Amino acid sequence: IPQAEPQPDAAFLRLRGLTKRYESGFIAVDNLDLDLPKGKLLGLLGPSGCGKTTTLRMIAGLASVTDGEILIGGDDVARRAPHKRDIGLVFQSYALFPHMTVAENIAFGLDMRGVSRQEARARVEEALEMVRLPGYGSRKPKEMSGGQQQRVALARALVIRPRILLLDEPLSNLDAKLRDDMRIEIREIQKRLSITTVFVTHDQVEALTMCDVVGVMAGGRLAQLGTPSEIYEKPASLFVAEFVGRANVIDCEIVGRDQARIGDQVYRSDTKGLSGGKAKAAIRPHRISLTPDRDRALVSNATNSARGRIARITYIGDIVQYEVEINGAMLKVEVPTASAGHGFGADDMLLCEWKPQDMLVFGS
Ligand code: ATP
Repeated sequence: IPQAEPQPDAAFLRLRGLTKRYESGFIAVDNLDLDLPKGKLLGLLGPSGCGKTTTLRMIAGLASVTDGEILIGGDDVARRAPHKRDIGLVFQSYALFPHMTVAENIAFGLDMRGVSRQEARARVEEALEMVRLPGYGSRKPKEMSGGQQQRVALARALVIRPRILLLDEPLSNLDAKLRDDMRIEIREIQKRLSITTVFVTHDQVEALTMCDVVGVMAGGRLAQLGTPSEIYEKPASLFVAEFVGRANVIDCEIVGRDQARIGDQVYRSDTKGLSGGKAKAAIRPHRISLTPDRDRALVSNATNSARGRIARITYIGDIVQYEVEINGAMLKVEVPTASAGHGFGADDMLLCEWKPQDMLVFGS
């Protein structure tokens, strides 16, 4: 009897060959394929100009689709008018109408959809409660803080009970502390409503801390799609390794399976099946530990180690950054300040150690 294949989470939002060519001929989004399960939060992350906003605008219907499909719950909405897509949208600038009260702002989309006055009032109050602003309906936007205004914008997006929520850099106008709070708040609301959400950001911390799935974009394509830990621990390319988190990038040569040579030293690393050729190694600064030179005998054979000299020490609050010179190459090492009590000083000789799995090697 044939066994049924276990079904992965069915995708609720599906992009198929999604492409945007602007009139200038420039291809901003290039044949994008992506599946997002229902209730999940996807972060589109990438440098300026990589096409993340254009992708979001195509899903919303604010930019026309040159080619491809946008499936929401199985319906291709790629050629539907924006208001027929059941999408809630929040922008970076809250885009609230200043002359209207908070309640009128939130009710705006309901009026357009022909919802009765009475029902609108109940739904506005419900939306205000969702974003923890009950009773604020009669205020004007200017009488509220930036964070509160952004919550009103969120309430306005949610009040229409959208099938998909789209957030375009919603936190970038807020100061650092408020941004931290709003990350948690948006994530909680998204989880509570279990609403399928796409979040555009250029902030890697935001993408890693808030999202179920992160899509790293470069040049209109997906460089990698994965969970935050997959993206961070197993970057698919040097671009992803450098864009998400910091990395020391060093020229090396693969000289055998899982062996990479830097200068005249051979280190162990995952070479992903490659056994030769020029490559780049990426090592995250906080994945390197420092041992005083006199303790050389204590260094485990299971790790890689290199002898070097401290060229510079920079105190950055929670962490101390050491720049260690190893055979002319400079390696950045970060140690939590609380555990940096080695008493290392400039020009000290020491050993840098890192695990084979923390040396990411990318063939060229
Ligand atoms: P940012 O973080 O700066 O907003 P992004 O990743 O969101 O960047 P997009 O706004 O999607 O990038 O733009 C992708 C590319 O398309 C950019 O190179 C941009 O210059 C180009 N582009 C955007 N709008 C147009 C347009 N109307 N006509 C031609 N090119 C455009």
